[in-house]
Amino acid sequence: MKARIKILLIEDDKSISRFIATALEGNGYKIMAALTGKEGISLAASFCPDVILLDLGLPDVDGLQVLKQIRTWSNVPVIVLSARTKEQEKVEALDMGADDYITKPFGTEELMARIRTCMRHRHSGTPDRIYKALNLEINFEKRLVKLEGKEIHLTQIEYQLLTLLAENSGRVLTYSFIMNAIWGPYMDSNNQILRVNMANIRRKIEKNPAQPQYVFTEIGIGYRMLDNEHV
Ligand code: CA
Repeated sequence: MKARIKILLIEDDKSISRFIATALEGNGYKIMAALTGKEGISLAASFCPDVILLDLGLPDVDGLQVLKQIRTWSNVPVIVLSARTKEQEKVEALDMGADDYITKPFGTEELMARIRTCMRHRHSGTPDRIYKALNLEINFEKRLVKLEGKEIHLTQIEYQLLTLLAENSGRVLTYSFIMNAIWGPYMDSNNQILRVNMANIRRKIEKNPAQPQYVFTEIGIGYRMLDNEHV
């Protein structure tokens, strides 16, 4: 039986809130819904949710401020609910400690998948040793990347970049997060070097680099790698 995972939903649009709550309850989750930012902050403290779904456009407190406040005392996974056109807002939320975002309108399946991914990343004590999806396999201990069983040769930077994405598979990583993780905080903030390396990786692992199967571009935000099937 599925443990009752508690989800706090902070969303002012009642019809969206009801839709999400019904879908989550149908999947065995326990839901608490807040219609304002202030209510959300206080429920985040009292309800002790396992995951928070946070709409950024709230009537009283800006969603980013809600996130900022919650992050002062809690590491609970936060998935931001955002409009399609607001890329900058999504990037800010991710860089402020949101775990992922989902773009409205979204389907129930997509939402469930995001919640599972978030929970997995927060609760797995030891990092995965193997990444496997479709025909791609990465063995982190042996530092080996195989495509259809054949070893792929990557440069040091390409390997670091690919494994960073693979260790966070299923989640989006922002350009600035990746730049910082691979090249450090003093690197020029333009992403050219990242794009060049990503193009090289795609040439090596993707059948058609223009239609990637493994590493997806989230336009204006960053990259997301296909979820690990191995876990
Ligand atoms: Ca709203």
